[in-house]
Amino acid sequence: MPTYECPICHTKTTCARPEDAPYRPFCSERCKLVDLGRWLNEEYRVREELPVDQPDDKLDDPRRELPGGGADV
Ligand SMILES: [Zn+2]
Repeated sequence: MPTYECPICHTKTTCARPEDAPYRPFCSERCKLVDLGRWLNEEYRVREELPVDQPDDKLDDPRRELPGGGADV
């Protein structure tokens, strides 16, 4: 009988057939959702960090051309 360990809660689960374990490699839908939530959190974090660099370049240029902004020269 195939046995697998849930990567979230490390519960060892045995199933007679792969069709009997719809949440594999997780032991339950709850652990599957926990894993999904972790991935989404990672993605949100990366997405928030990336645009910080790109618009910064564009914002920097017009700011330098402003007459009153000579503080950084
Ligand atoms: Zn689990």
